[in-house]
Amino acid sequence: FSDLVEEAWLSARALKDYSENIFNPTVRLGVTGLSRAGKTVFITALVHGLSRGGRFPIFESMSTGRIAKARLAPQPDDAVPRFGYEGFLATLMEQRDWPSSTVDISELRLVIDYQRKNGAERTLTLDIVDYPGEWLLDLPLLNKSYEKWAAESLALSRQDPRRRVAVDWHAHLATLDPNGRENEQETLTAARLFTTYLRDCRNEQFAMSLLPPGRFLMPGNLAGSPALTFAPLDVPEGGTAPERSLWAMMVRRYEAYKDVVVRPFFRDHFARLDRQIVLADALSAFNAGPEALQDLEAALAGILDCFRVGRASMLSTMFRPRIDRILFAATKADHLHHSSHDRLEAILRKLVERAMQRAEFAGATVDVVALAAVRATREAQVQRGRDRLPSIVGTPIKGEMADGEIFDGETEVATFPGDLPTNLQGLFKGEDTFRGLAAGRHEDADFRFLRFRPPRLDNRDPDGPALPHIRLDRALQFLIGDQLQ
Ligand code: GDP
Repeated sequence: FSDLVEEAWLSARALKDYSENIFNPTVRLGVTGLSRAGKTVFITALVHGLSRGGRFPIFESMSTGRIAKARLAPQPDDAVPRFGYEGFLATLMEQRDWPSSTVDISELRLVIDYQRKNGAERTLTLDIVDYPGEWLLDLPLLNKSYEKWAAESLALSRQDPRRRVAVDWHAHLATLDPNGRENEQETLTAARLFTTYLRDCRNEQFAMSLLPPGRFLMPGNLAGSPALTFAPLDVPEGGTAPERSLWAMMVRRYEAYKDVVVRPFFRDHFARLDRQIVLADALSAFNAGPEALQDLEAALAGILDCFRVGRASMLSTMFRPRIDRILFAATKADHLHHSSHDRLEAILRKLVERAMQRAEFAGATVDVVALAAVRATREAQVQRGRDRLPSIVGTPIKGEMADGEIFDGETEVATFPGDLPTNLQGLFKGEDTFRGLAAGRHEDADFRFLRFRPPRLDNRDPDGPALPHIRLDRALQFLIGDQLQ
């Protein structure tokens, strides 16, 4: 019966969305990516570029002057936090610091007044929805039993390099009897150790794909609740939990997690998106080596899987995801010389194609781009012996180190960005791992990217400074260009 009520309620809302859309064309754009991928910076730069008018030659409606004005408006959903645009922009432009990252869902509405190609005046409403990629990777749980999820999570945790950080959790798991009586203390300990394992995987940079549950790392207001207090047990995939057993308790909470966390996210947010951009810090993955790259590919396949979830798990076909365009973007391309941007894009394209085959994905149009939402560096030629080498110049963040020097946050340095490998197979085998190079340290094989401060801006422009970017206009053209014809 409750399914029927839900279905009726969803039908009513879908109808409301639909009728609003007729009078007031609206695009709901989802912006996601794993933690630190660059979501907050991307949305801030995009909104600023649209409302101020950025240098966007490839974003046709803006470069030809058909966009008259883009302005912020109150958002439609009262229960979703607002994206803190003004504060983030001030941090970027005035303090030259990066804003604080996404930890929860948030939303912002932008209204764009434009002229159609045939001259008619029109308005497009753009609702931008920012949410952690960790939540997206939860969607496949909707079609998965506790036993299957536990088996998969365990199998993965027994492989290197995850196994190394799973030691404490595995030791505790070995003391548990799934068929024994349910026990809150055992469950609390198991959940705590399992969460520590997930966090360590993420911190070690080798588990970008992070098996769900995503809220264990981004709990929001559910921290400590039973729906977030469970962990995998070593139980047979086709088995049934005895009543009042530890196993049964885990199953109950896993199902609660799906009910109170995953399903509402799917229904209230994901299923209502029209377009989606998925940001990935691919450079860091190349830098970290073949396991990180495999993880990235698995994460991409997992994300593509999400776009099919609705079909199998929702009652009505009306609520399958309606996303018809997905853009995968490699962020922070300003760490590379422009001669490498195409190569970065080509590597990401290969990764996405492989992931599409893995996920047997069909449906939405998919594209890839390498971009920097905010370009923190500029390019220069630096004389080194007889050679003039292409380099990038930026202000490293205070406290960053290279060559034993600790930067003060004010001094500019020139660095030689590494060459991206041409061969994906080589990357996967670890033969050809990409290494950026710090100033003057060609041989250093273990360089982590220098992080730069946001750029110093040109204040002479009467419209106020624009934020420099790389290929943000290409992203915009793909995501909403067709809606502004
Ligand atoms: P989120 O967790 O996905 O919201 O990630 P953020 O947008 O907060 O970005 C995480 C960090 O990545 C920032 O603090 C910056 O250090 C860096 N970053 C993000 N976008 C860019 C970019 O376009 N250029 C550069 N150089 N760094 C970026």
